[in-house]
Amino acid sequence: ETATDAEPTDPASLLGRGDEAQVRADDRHVFHSWSAQAAIDPLPIEHAQGSYFWDYAGKRYLDFSSQLVNMNIGYQHPRLVAAIVEQAQRLCSIQPAFANDVRGEAARLITERAPEGLNTVFFTNGGADANENAVRMARLHTGRQKVLAAYRSYHGSTAGAISLTGDPRRWPSEPAVPGTVRYFGPYLYRSAFHAETKQEECDRALAHLRELVMLEGPHTIAALVLETVVGTNGILVPPPGYLDGVRALCDEHGILLIADEVMSGFGRCGEWFALDHWGMTPDLITFAKGVNSGYVPIGGVLISDTVAATFADRPFPGGLTYSGHPLACASAVASIRIFEDEGILANARMLGEEVIAPGLAELATKHPCIGEVRGLGVFWAVELVRDRATREPLVPFNAAGADAAPMTQFAAACKSEGLWPFTHFNRTHVVPPCTSTPDEVREGLAMLDVALEAADRHTTGA
Ligand code: PLP
Repeated sequence: ETATDAEPTDPASLLGRGDEAQVRADDRHVFHSWSAQAAIDPLPIEHAQGSYFWDYAGKRYLDFSSQLVNMNIGYQHPRLVAAIVEQAQRLCSIQPAFANDVRGEAARLITERAPEGLNTVFFTNGGADANENAVRMARLHTGRQKVLAAYRSYHGSTAGAISLTGDPRRWPSEPAVPGTVRYFGPYLYRSAFHAETKQEECDRALAHLRELVMLEGPHTIAALVLETVVGTNGILVPPPGYLDGVRALCDEHGILLIADEVMSGFGRCGEWFALDHWGMTPDLITFAKGVNSGYVPIGGVLISDTVAATFADRPFPGGLTYSGHPLACASAVASIRIFEDEGILANARMLGEEVIAPGLAELATKHPCIGEVRGLGVFWAVELVRDRATREPLVPFNAAGADAAPMTQFAAACKSEGLWPFTHFNRTHVVPPCTSTPDEVREGLAMLDVALEAADRHTTGA
């Protein structure tokens, strides 16, 4: 009997789904991200639905992390799953040199939601390679090499993207790819400029950038890259005037502006793109995560007509086997339509304004460990401190092991309550799916309330 003669196989038996031995094999044979392999104890997830997932012991967790801040549409959205199945039955894979209907439709829908003048998309497999390719385009377009990138930023972990990254995740890869020059972005709570108001922070951050550009030589700088709202480094919302100031400085010197919207885009900030809040138009926008909530891996670069024109008569030297993968594009198309049909952007804005902002403000009145809360949409940070007056962080910068114990205890307290938190250094981020209901978010804030008592124990005045 040949494979083609065989009876269709039952897909569940093909996968051997749910087998305990398979779950143990994950521990034994999968090399996990960002971890000492012997130290990891990954929680096996049995199933997920909406804003929740369940482990094999039947314990339910409310997801306040949206996985890695990508599960914007919630788990197992039935219409999104159906769209992927439908596409899988028609055409699973086609290489990027062919034209494809769902790829075209995904690009059309994404460009229609971007600022004016960005009308083409280069599809990638995720966020890091989107940033790699945006920088490559900027270098080829300008004929310059240097890229300005911020401290307290994350842009991905491939060679070029980790070189842009301005946080400790870059350290083990240094010196990395040369040509990155680091600047300080605005962060009023821990101002590098000793500013006391948003206006001062904005003015001084822009003055710092101007001086940096002058000293580096404007004619050597291809691009400035920023996260529109900084994500894993603390949900840093730019002060009014900052993005316009950066845009003007770049225009003055022919420097391209790359907005990394991998984490902040597609509903996270209550808009298609975080930059919609400020009406700023970059030359290149990178995206991934929320565009289809990671149901199938995809990312991309939105390209301005001016940059795209560079490659009209000159080949673009880059490509990926899975660029514009049909399953990924079909899921992006379906996701964008579902966002519109179900009013998900408005839901994210409402959750931020009516539930998370007042809820966190109330927690801050009860818990001395809360130094500051900040954010917008479903993108919030709670900064935990040992002492509100000095703003000393609850754990030192980049703490690990015993130094990180107060945060480890806090995270364990969340999990024991049934809340899956997103924690980084001395912060916990409140980043639930954009589709969460107000009651679910209130339930999560109530669990956070209990877990914060573990952090209060390390705080002066508790
Ligand atoms: N850029 C930002 C702002 C991110 O937050 C991330 C991931 O967290 C990336 C880029 C990298 O994306 P990926 O992990 O899909 O490569």
